[in-house]
Amino acid sequence: MAGGNDDSYARSTRLVTVGRSGDFADNVVNPPIWRASTHLYANCADLKARKARNEDGQFFYGRRGAPTQWALAQALTALEPGAAGTVLYPSGLAALAGALLAVLRSGDVLLVADNAYEPTRNTAMGLLKTFGVEHRFFDPLDLEAFEAAFCDRTRAVMLEVPGSLTMEVCDIPALTRIARDKGAVSLIDNTWATSLGFEALGHGCDIAITALTKHVGGHSDLMMGAASAGERWYRRLRLGAQQLGHVVSPDDAALALRGLRTMGVRLEQQSKTALAIAQWLDDRDEVAHVLSPMLPGGPGHNLWQRDFTGGCGLFSFVLKGRDDVARCRLIDALQLFGIGYSWGGFESLALPFDVDPIRSTMAWPKEGWGLEDRFAIRLSIGLEDKGDLIADLTNGFAAMNEG
Ligand SMILES: *Cc1c(COP(=O)(O)O)cnc(C)c1O
Repeated sequence: MAGGNDDSYARSTRLVTVGRSGDFADNVVNPPIWRASTHLYANCADLKARKARNEDGQFFYGRRGAPTQWALAQALTALEPGAAGTVLYPSGLAALAGALLAVLRSGDVLLVADNAYEPTRNTAMGLLKTFGVEHRFFDPLDLEAFEAAFCDRTRAVMLEVPGSLTMEVCDIPALTRIARDKGAVSLIDNTWATSLGFEALGHGCDIAITALTKHVGGHSDLMMGAASAGERWYRRLRLGAQQLGHVVSPDDAALALRGLRTMGVRLEQQSKTALAIAQWLDDRDEVAHVLSPMLPGGPGHNLWQRDFTGGCGLFSFVLKGRDDVARCRLIDALQLFGIGYSWGGFESLALPFDVDPIRSTMAWPKEGWGLEDRFAIRLSIGLEDKGDLIADLTNGFAAMNEG
């Protein structure tokens, strides 16, 4: 039987074996898609017994998950060292909001990394505020300011690494140690590295959240999120999700499981190409800064090397002394890079971004940068040939310079 929960296997092997227990997939490689709301019980005694148990992996009623969803949840748990369970959500943001709602109460204070994903900020400033939860944004690179930001009512810390768009790497073990000392729970958005590239719970985080929409799906055809945690917080997450009525479709769960099987090789290939392109960009006269933790000598590289075991295809760069018009000329000239949100798919994407409206405490341009160096582009590197992507970018720069 392909159990796959054996920790002695290497990560690449476990990506193949996890979530394939006989309970979910008898005599078949992939668990079937159980498209079902209703589970039928043998008799009244069976019904009563299952209701009392409310256990993981049980097909009780569709909203609690049919075997296809349980197979995915079990696979993600097996890939997250230290996790007792994983809750699936209909999007990455639903996972973030669901986890925050599960740990916070009215009157609590939430600390949010200033470089967190913009919708995470919006959830703190909007929904959570209406429920009586206060928030403070903090610079995750400033440990002293972080420690000073706590008060008696600080219940939780929302982290993300690398920072959204600007790609800063913070010292997660140091931040989570402070949070724990202060009695606060640490949540992390680990979408960039996934559990393959960063062991969130092992570095002190209590709840690891991933937008499966990105690398796990990997093919730009599904929306889903997950939150994994040790026993105590997993129970809270599960209860919260059940009360919110969160459920994912079995079809999407099957797609996510399919994506998971190739995630390791995709991330490895995309990281390789992304690093080569980051190095190439670093040598261009038109580029002021390359923002990639994977780039040797680049910002955050040392912490990334210390704490991470992998990267991905997502990074940013800042144009030297150009404006938005020049930036758009570059992006519009690209043929292989689509213009779009999201990332982590097999196709390359380019996105112009402006940081000013989505930062409260972190400066942009960064300290020591030229004031005119502020117009930035995020690249999500897909599985295309590195030479073709560089040729495409070369054309983009030529179009920018012609203007
Ligand atoms: C996309 C993304 C999310 C949200 O995922 P959705 O599935 O789009 O809701 C959360 N965090 C990060 C870092 C993301 O890039």
